[in-house]
Amino acid sequence: MPVTVPNVGSRVRVTTMYPNTYAYRGKYDNYVTMAREGIVINSIFKDPFYFAVETGAPDHPVSEYNAKSQHVIKIEYLTGGATSVETSNKAWKVKSGDSIYLVQRMNGKYSCTCKGFEFRRECKHIAAAAKK
Ligand SMILES: [Zn+2]
Repeated sequence: MPVTVPNVGSRVRVTTMYPNTYAYRGKYDNYVTMAREGIVINSIFKDPFYFAVETGAPDHPVSEYNAKSQHVIKIEYLTGGATSVETSNKAWKVKSGDSIYLVQRMNGKYSCTCKGFEFRRECKHIAAAAKK
């Protein structure tokens, strides 16, 4: 099952739902939902399913999300789009200069999101990921 991960630069609204730790029966909802909106930036985590949203909120300027998490219940795209990442196959984030590329191995075949791969069907990011 592929997971949809927002592309860097997209504007999204992410809705999360967590158990309400203050809830008790009959008085409060058992779950708390929250929506945050902003521009997608690279996550600090080297995991292809993670993305970060720059919300500009003074109390919480950057929110980190795991697109695979059950707590992320909705991602709305205001601008931009997403990349489909396979969960049954392997994927790596490879940092190169100021950019981070997504290398995936599906059915034994590697792919990369960089320009070099688009033209040559091979690149140094795949070589780096294959060594891991
Ligand atoms: Zn590459």
